[in-house]
Amino acid sequence: MLYDLIIIGGGPAGTSAAISAARQGASVLLLERGRFPRHKVCGEFVSAESLSLLRGLLDLQHAALLHDAVRIPRARMFLDGRILHASVDPPAASIARFDLDAALWHSAESAGVYARQQATVQSVGGSRPFRIVTAGKEFEARALVNASGRWSNLNLAPAENGARSEKWLGVKAHFAEPVSEPSVDLYFFDGGYCGVQPVGAGRVNASAMVRADVASSLPEVFARHPELRERSRIWTLVSDPVSTSPLIFRHPQPERDGILMAGDAAGFVDPFVGDGISLALRSGSLAARSLKSFLAGEASLNDAVRSYSQAYKESLLPVFRTSSKIRRMLVLPGYLRKPVLSFLESSPAITNYLVRKTR
Ligand SMILES: Cc1cc2nc3c(=O)[nH]c(=O)nc-3n(C[C@H](O)[C@H](O)[C@H](O)COP(=O)(O)OP(=O)(O)OC[C@H]3O[C@@H](n4cnc5c(N)ncnc54)[C@H](O)[C@@H]3O)c2cc1C
Repeated sequence: MLYDLIIIGGGPAGTSAAISAARQGASVLLLERGRFPRHKVCGEFVSAESLSLLRGLLDLQHAALLHDAVRIPRARMFLDGRILHASVDPPAASIARFDLDAALWHSAESAGVYARQQATVQSVGGSRPFRIVTAGKEFEARALVNASGRWSNLNLAPAENGARSEKWLGVKAHFAEPVSEPSVDLYFFDGGYCGVQPVGAGRVNASAMVRADVASSLPEVFARHPELRERSRIWTLVSDPVSTSPLIFRHPQPERDGILMAGDAAGFVDPFVGDGISLALRSGSLAARSLKSFLAGEASLNDAVRSYSQAYKESLLPVFRTSSKIRRMLVLPGYLRKPVLSFLESSPAITNYLVRKTR
């Protein structure tokens, strides 16, 4: 069967593209390697600017997910014995990926998307139409969106992409904490950082990005930071820890061989800016909008791909630039970082400005 659009990957980028395209009247097949619900390494901080898009994507049955979500109006950065305070204005939402990804998946199904789980795409061939091969099945599509995430069998290996040779990994789990501040707390240490925020029902999510030679488990991460070690003493583990590696930052590439790349498959933004889910939702919906005139027979696929790349560069690329500048500042050698931190500590308006710039 020939579909208008096939989307590879059922995370926030893939489901956003699928729901948006199906609502435009396209026949959409969404292929996902895993099964929902499932935990995923993520800080679960959903920035405010994508909340109205998310609200529009969720079907009525899942609307409460956003309505009931814990709101995060402030950030605290624990670094070199200092605490930098910043406001997160408008507040972000804290939503467990266990719930968010499943809700988006079911919303795609109710929008009329043909959604298949445990369907790993093994290869992609052709272009007019695209031929997509999973174990024992072959599908065809007029257009293709690759939303298979940061690290999939379909994306480039790090060496091909000029990425760094240092290995970074992500680890995450939920813990019961008797009393939690409505704040995203970032604990920085040499070789990584750990984000902690409440996710509701007396739980916090702890999610770390760390160099592989520094730590490989959450207890090892907690031991790297005195305040975090102290705070985590009273926590009880309430979800199985999950991990992922390698974490590779690369220059965003919104298009490859006529395929629209969305979410992390297009480019992975530093997690501490808390914008990956937002970029995924926004790029997915942008991909569907850019394909609309091609699917209606009013433009060529090349035109659609060009318009997507252009819109991506204008509206999403600035987030990558700002986050890499801020990351460079936080990993400055101690003798340079200290004066920068003292300055930020005494200038909350500038800290707020920097936090806002990552939004
Ligand atoms: C430590 C850490 C903390 C983070 N914290 C935050 C945060 O607080 N806030 C935030 O906004 N972002 C955060 N992020 C980033 C965020 O998790 C990602 O940006 C987001 O998940 C991207 O969504 P996506 O849909 O592009 O990819 P994914 O969510 O990775 O979805 C891709 C999907 O594609 C599927 N797939 C892969 N290959 C195939 C294949 N061959 N065939 C079929 N399916 C396939 C996968 O199973 C997966 O479900 C964090 C990331 C890390 C590592």
